[in-house]
Amino acid sequence: MPALENYILGKWIKGDGEGQSLYNAVTGEAIATASTKGLDFAAILQYAREKGNPALRNMSFHERGVMLRALALYLREHLEEFYKISYQTGATKADSWVDIEGGIGNLFSYASLRRKFPDTPYCLDGENHPLGKANTFMGHHLLIPKEGVAVHINAFNFPVWGMLEKIAVNLLAGVPAVVKPASVTSFLSEAVVKKIAASGILPNGALQLLCGSAGDMLDHVTSQDVVTFTGSASTGLMLKSGKRILEENVPFTMEADSLNCIVLGQDVVPGMPEWDLFIKEVRKEMTTKCGQKCTAIRRIFVPENKIEDVQIALGKALAQTTIGNPLNEKVRMGSLAGESQRTEVKEQVQKLLASSQIIYGSLDSVEVIDADARKGAFMSPLLLLNHDPFNTTEAHEVEAFGPVSTLMPYRSTADAIALAKKGKGSLVSSIVTADPSIAKEYVLGAGMYHGRILILNDQCAKESTGHGSPLPLLVHGGPGRAGGGEEMGGLRGVKHYMQRVAIQGSPDMITAVSNVYQPGATGKKDGKHPFKKYFEELEIGDQLVTEKRLITSEDINRFADLSGDHFYAHLTSTNFEGTMFERQVAHGYFIMSAAAGLFVDSYEKNPVLLNYGIDELRFTKPVYPGAEIYIRFSCKEKIGQEQKLDTDIPRGIVKWLVEIFDETDETVGVATILTMVQKKDA
Ligand code: NDP
Repeated sequence: MPALENYILGKWIKGDGEGQSLYNAVTGEAIATASTKGLDFAAILQYAREKGNPALRNMSFHERGVMLRALALYLREHLEEFYKISYQTGATKADSWVDIEGGIGNLFSYASLRRKFPDTPYCLDGENHPLGKANTFMGHHLLIPKEGVAVHINAFNFPVWGMLEKIAVNLLAGVPAVVKPASVTSFLSEAVVKKIAASGILPNGALQLLCGSAGDMLDHVTSQDVVTFTGSASTGLMLKSGKRILEENVPFTMEADSLNCIVLGQDVVPGMPEWDLFIKEVRKEMTTKCGQKCTAIRRIFVPENKIEDVQIALGKALAQTTIGNPLNEKVRMGSLAGESQRTEVKEQVQKLLASSQIIYGSLDSVEVIDADARKGAFMSPLLLLNHDPFNTTEAHEVEAFGPVSTLMPYRSTADAIALAKKGKGSLVSSIVTADPSIAKEYVLGAGMYHGRILILNDQCAKESTGHGSPLPLLVHGGPGRAGGGEEMGGLRGVKHYMQRVAIQGSPDMITAVSNVYQPGATGKKDGKHPFKKYFEELEIGDQLVTEKRLITSEDINRFADLSGDHFYAHLTSTNFEGTMFERQVAHGYFIMSAAAGLFVDSYEKNPVLLNYGIDELRFTKPVYPGAEIYIRFSCKEKIGQEQKLDTDIPRGIVKWLVEIFDETDETVGVATILTMVQKKDA
């Protein structure tokens, strides 16, 4: 039988001994073995820190993003090979799509996120803080990639997505990873990493893979490393309370058992589109991936007078689920990941049965097509009913990680909220309602116990990504029992792998360190208008201080007529008693336009290709006729752009700080404007 290999220290290496046998979940055949015996786990982590980390941390966010995109495109060329292997985990085509293409989709999403970052290896975080009256001392926050390695200990249910959703984030942050997928399905993770390694797209040491036990790896982590864990709450707790993790204060993100719930709003009755949506959503969540999803619906809360109707409708819906060999196209639900998972799920169901009864499905038998029900890890969907959810605990505490869910009655929305909270913290909850007041009551009442809440109704159903799908740009994780961690979440996730350091100093120093011009820093004036410089020639801090322009009442009247903005404050005819103004005041947009008139270098073509917007714009003091405004115009930030086609004009984005002053040198307005500037060289 083939032995899976571990990708460590830049090589593929087999572990010692016979290893753990891994099985085809559908046929029960042994297909591979996995072992990490004899590996030097300390050396594996050190390799990541010494090889992978410097290579990644010295790349800019943009380079890392482009690398992720290249990896995603490359993996997409090998989908068929991955699908073939994925069937052996018991997954249907649809399940595998979520795992494989969902995982690759994550790489694409994080690749695109690079545009939210500057083209540097590190970045500023948040706003600047002036800390002195004379503006010689300020504070800011800088995010720097950690110097360690991300250790990902993953669950068996998504061998590809689980790996890619996590590494996309740490790689964009500039930190390498060691991935330890759950052994049972590690043969699929191995196949994907084989391709990744062969592609040569990632730098050496950026990704290592362990197929088998994690050994003593967690005894070698340091405070610069980050550990993430997905799996059972008990293993998570054990690992999280490890001596080394505690001693070194190693960030530990945990995503564990979660008793996610769905609530049928009190307004929803049979015949409403929301009724059908609810039934469909529950069935989908019970049967997708054979219920082995961290986000699957385990608890179903329904108004007590509709319990019977829901029971009948769900029974009918579940009866349409064809179970069997996922290679057969008619099959809607495959098998569990293996025999041990089936045994585990059945044991958990026995615990649930202390306070519930089975109202659909059977623990002992299941009808399958194209497969042998005794050899494969098949299981019938099980719908349970618990009449007394307030006085019993099992349904709120026992996670049966399979196609199992419990129906429970409630009386008022406040009751539904109280029941949702009995899960003690979940990854996700859904409420199906057409009534905004019910949605609001539920979200504000139960939100603090959840990582994500889906409000499902007819309006959004067509485009809804569903209860069970974590999304790259939204937080995935949940409080309390769900582990207390956050994964993905767009920019938030990336920051998890970076150290946020508060920096204090003079504006000149903070500008030099951050590569972003800070208000009050010394400007560079070389006599050449900044708009005459190509992208490469521009320097952060290049500055222009303009002539003055007198603002007249006539200007304001003309701007009011031209724009159609005849707001009373801009009219001479207004009686200003009781208003915020003394007399006719200039439109803020006129002042901004007049500012452009002062700082733009006109008439001749120049390397500035276009102006595409304003990031921040504030009007800080009224400008009355007679004021004389002038502008300090500074090159704030430069972000290079890739040239997609040879025919594209090579260019970058330049942000400019526009400070508008009046004749008393007081600031009347501030803006950051965005331009595209041509590069000299392609
Ligand atoms: P486990 O907690 O046993 O395993 C999760 C991961 O931890 C696996 O990679 C496993 O590796 C690893 N692991 C186990 N023990 C150690 C250890 N001592 N040191 C380091 N790593 C370790 O969960 P399972 O995957 O077996 O699933 C059990 C239950 O967890 C499910 O029935 C379900 O209730 C829950 N679960 C929850 C998920 C969620 O996202 N919320 C996802 C998956 C499961 P190995 O496989 O080699 O043992």
